[in-house]
Amino acid sequence: MRVGVNGAVGQMGRAVCAAVTADADLTLVAAVDRHGAGEEINDVVVADQLQAFADAECDVVVDFTVAESARTTLPWLGAHGIHAVVGTTGFTDDDVALFETTFGVADGPNCLIAPNFAISAVLMMRFAEMAAPWFDTAEVIELHHMRKIDAPSGTAVKTIERMAAARDTDFVDDPTEIEIYPGARGGAGPRNIRAHSVRMEGMVAHQEVILGAEGQTLTIRQDSYDRSSFMPGVVLACKQIHARPGLVLSLDSYLD
Ligand code: NAD
Repeated sequence: MRVGVNGAVGQMGRAVCAAVTADADLTLVAAVDRHGAGEEINDVVVADQLQAFADAECDVVVDFTVAESARTTLPWLGAHGIHAVVGTTGFTDDDVALFETTFGVADGPNCLIAPNFAISAVLMMRFAEMAAPWFDTAEVIELHHMRKIDAPSGTAVKTIERMAAARDTDFVDDPTEIEIYPGARGGAGPRNIRAHSVRMEGMVAHQEVILGAEGQTLTIRQDSYDRSSFMPGVVLACKQIHARPGLVLSLDSYLD
């Protein structure tokens, strides 16, 4: 597979370039970023235009940039018949609806948008979804590094959506009447599942899902200590995307 990387000089982009280069079945053929044009990463010179992906005849492009940029990049990839493996977070429902039309064409390119490529995180979401029908209260605490600008994280939103969809009823109402510091109880998502976002120096990406019922709690915790935790998932996606039609919104099905 001929792979291009968008956001190549970013922290994730550099890790993806290295992971692709290290894999025997993948070849890094193009790197694009709006900064750092001309820099050489894993023997590929960084370009500043998407056209570099078409010129290098990429089969798949991995995008780790910002949502605003990916809104342009993904339709461009779709129009050029290039599969998209997307780690960028912060998309709205309208964005997803647009991408669905872009990548829903029969025999057209495919797109995976995964809010979290760490296999531990994918399994954490699956376990949280399994647990959701069996408890009365549920809260999600996500913890990230200090450069993250969106909250709650894409992983937390996805986890909460899947937990909510797994139930027929809401979790019990929040009992809080006095909130001394606004936001102390976090933000309420669907079915009364609360999200709490921690931004902390020294952390990378972590999440805890706590569920409770009378006399028992269940805590499901996942930690990414390093960006390398995301790479096996990205490499797996690059290899399998050609066989996963349309727009897929989680790495989950790639593990079956
Ligand atoms: P970063 O700021 O280090 O890198 C982002 C890069 O994108 C920068 O180099 C920037 O110049 C580039 N960029 C921005 N706009 C661009 C454009 N229009 N064209 C080309 N390049 C552009 O950030 P990061 O830590 O590498 O994270 C990138 C994204 O990946 C974020 O959205 C983050 O939330 C997400 N992320 C996802 C996962 C996952 O598993 N899905 C894991 C970690 C981070």
